[in-house]
Amino acid sequence: MSKGSLIVVTGPSGAGKGTVLKRVLPHMDKLYYSVSLTTRRPRPGERDGIDYHFCSEAQAREMIANGQMLEYAEYVGNIYGTPAGPVDAQLSQGVDVVLEIEVQGALQVSARRPDAPLIFITTSSFTELERRLRGRGTESEEKVARRLATAREEYRQIDAFQFIVLNDQADTAAAELMAIIQAERCRTVRRREYLSI
Ligand code: 5GP
Repeated sequence: MSKGSLIVVTGPSGAGKGTVLKRVLPHMDKLYYSVSLTTRRPRPGERDGIDYHFCSEAQAREMIANGQMLEYAEYVGNIYGTPAGPVDAQLSQGVDVVLEIEVQGALQVSARRPDAPLIFITTSSFTELERRLRGRGTESEEKVARRLATAREEYRQIDAFQFIVLNDQADTAAAELMAIIQAERCRTVRRREYLSI
């Protein structure tokens, strides 16, 4: 099999999915981070095309209508989605692709690509999640409250995921995530082509 694996990293906002991935990516070759599209406004320091493709709602809806999204979701008043083109291009070249997305989108990917491992990253306590979300200081109180309410919903679906990475400590979480990705790469269906026996 010459195709790469699709790896889905999900979990509540504030759990540090992005922070953990930033630690993992420099240490793993042939791993492509899928840049999502969002209608949310950029936070200070976020760069278009690197952190997200920032777009209008009309642009997002057009891409959805044209079937150009692998998955998408409406999350706390904005659209977020994964453009399918770059993901497919990388996978067909044998590069593994990691998606960092919320739970509704993760479940859509799982329905379309049942082989994709679903990894739920979270803190072990809800209080810590809340502390991190508020600590960011980038969202209004109303948006923070909606993110927390959404997180509670997301926890209810935890049994849909094959792996849970606890991000109480970023280095430990990064090591766990790397171990999962490495294990995925060792699956027989991916390794047997390298055997010349
Ligand atoms: P934030 O506004 O904090 O950047 O992201 C809000 C939530 O949307 C996070 O849980 C983030 O992982 C998720 N998200 C980011 N990109 C995508 C995407 O392409 N699809 C989906 N379904 N969720 C996404």
